[in-house]
Amino acid sequence: MTMLQFSETCEAIAGTTKKLEKISIAGAYLRAAPVEEAAIAALYFSGSPFPAYVETTLQLGGSILWKLIAELSGKSEAELSQIYKKHGDAGAVAGEALPGRTASGLRLTSVQQTFSEIAAARGPTPKASLLRALLEQSTALEAKYIVKIVSGDLRIGLKESLVEDAIAKAFEAPLDQIKRANMLLGDIAETLRLAAAAKLKEARLRLFHPIDFMLASPIDSAEEALSYFENASVEDKYDGIRAQAHVGGGEVRIFSRTRDEISQSFPELLPALASLPSDAILDGEIVAWDFAKSSSAQPSEGEANNALVTGRAMPFSKLQQRLGRKKVSEILLRSVPVVFLVFDVIYAREELLIGRPLRERAEILDSVLRELALAPRREIVSRLTAQSVFSFSGGGDGKAAEDSNGGAGHVRVHRAPTAIARSHEDLERSFLAARSRGNEGLMIKDQDSPYTPGRRGKSWLKMKRELATLDVVVTAVEYGHGKRIGVLSDYTFAIWDGDTLVNIGKAYSGLTDVEIAEMTKWFLAHKTKDLGLRLEVEPKIVLEVAFNNMMISERHESGFALRFPRIVRLRPDKMAEDADTIERVKEIYASEHGG
Ligand code: AMP
Repeated sequence: MTMLQFSETCEAIAGTTKKLEKISIAGAYLRAAPVEEAAIAALYFSGSPFPAYVETTLQLGGSILWKLIAELSGKSEAELSQIYKKHGDAGAVAGEALPGRTASGLRLTSVQQTFSEIAAARGPTPKASLLRALLEQSTALEAKYIVKIVSGDLRIGLKESLVEDAIAKAFEAPLDQIKRANMLLGDIAETLRLAAAAKLKEARLRLFHPIDFMLASPIDSAEEALSYFENASVEDKYDGIRAQAHVGGGEVRIFSRTRDEISQSFPELLPALASLPSDAILDGEIVAWDFAKSSSAQPSEGEANNALVTGRAMPFSKLQQRLGRKKVSEILLRSVPVVFLVFDVIYAREELLIGRPLRERAEILDSVLRELALAPRREIVSRLTAQSVFSFSGGGDGKAAEDSNGGAGHVRVHRAPTAIARSHEDLERSFLAARSRGNEGLMIKDQDSPYTPGRRGKSWLKMKRELATLDVVVTAVEYGHGKRIGVLSDYTFAIWDGDTLVNIGKAYSGLTDVEIAEMTKWFLAHKTKDLGLRLEVEPKIVLEVAFNNMMISERHESGFALRFPRIVRLRPDKMAEDADTIERVKEIYASEHGG
């Protein structure tokens, strides 16, 4: 198949808003293409030049692309900006600005070959000249899609889950097997090859690429919690960041909920995890921890418990200082120590455990962590230098003794304590105990439930103190007044109604000046429409907002409005897809207004 056919197919997919039509056009293309080219197309349809599990990246930033398009088109900066304003993405600019060459029969396999060469090339200049040579043999339409793939966003309304649907259609394979293979492999291209060969069942887990996290649904009362299931296991809800640790052959990698690798931000956790006796994937929360405080994290008297964690969680604002850093200073390691509180296991002892009920996973997790406690400390074979891991020499109180858990001075990897709740009184007691330990509330989990990656079901429930907060996506911003003049401080935000974001409110306060300054920069770089004092922006920033109550209102598209909305915090750990939905808004409204 040629790059031109691929690009024309993309245009056709972009040309319809109907999901089923998109799937059927993509499916027909994948069926018609030779398997190897269909596999490449599946990657490109998902907006990526390489499979998720490989670490290869092109590292061709926006400014290089921009320069190349300017050179090849001979257009001025002002002319290109004009075109950019119309489309808002570099690929579309390339499509419109580049000269109309005749098709050279460029094949997907050659495009892929060039992408591999670009990834292997060192430095921006050789990378740019490889891409330049590729664009020089492309028609304007091909160039449009090559640039879109390079910049990682096709913008034809096709996300990876729809590509899975298209593969199912193309090869008449069961969708659940395709989803499972793609989850295990982290590779939509290989998934397609297996589907084409009717070998989906042979997919085996590949370590070191993040598996989607199981998510929780909010509940408003203890009674509501027990209406979903009987055998409830409860844990404190820690206010930290969700993390998935992959361990194999002494190598450790930790992934965040946004699928980014965050191992380097938490060097003190790595030696402990590397000591695990067998390969494993653990799910838990990284929490800033005060080892000196006396209150312990285990559930209160009378509740079952399987670990003793001394100290208590520090607020999320502390942990925030540790986020997004490539290198963590000694000072920060000491002032904001962290622990990894593990509450689930996805893979261990060569078995994928997601199909097993929580009660069995919990037992396996206990025994894996028990072995960890006994295991001799192991060196870690990681891309992280030994120095960045072992130069750390003290915990919260400056003690430097080493222990088998791998941390220097303190035990860093713990089983999150669990208890059983039989009645709503049990839950309320646990809730208050969790709050008194400085934690956000409770997680209530169905002991009979499997681990469902990426799904927010009713098997895990979260109970927080506030009546409710909403996670919302910023869609538009405005310049502030008074001391906020010149910065974008007023945010209009939205929630999901199906696939569409609908506005529900606007908030002015809650962020610090530093945060507002940083957000202003981001919004200016990601505006999609400039309306003078108001900018529409790419819907990527997630905020947690609190409010006093909720009203039916014509003012916003959602049909609801919030009374006294305020920003609780930025949620850089969440993606736009993770924001709340209109269903959730209706639930809150109903619970506030007596059903
Ligand atoms: P939220 O971020 O409000 O949607 O709440 C869900 C998040 O709570 C999860 O993604 C975890 O990061 C976090 N969390 C804290 N403690 C636990 C726990 N014991 N079990 C599961 N998730 C937890």
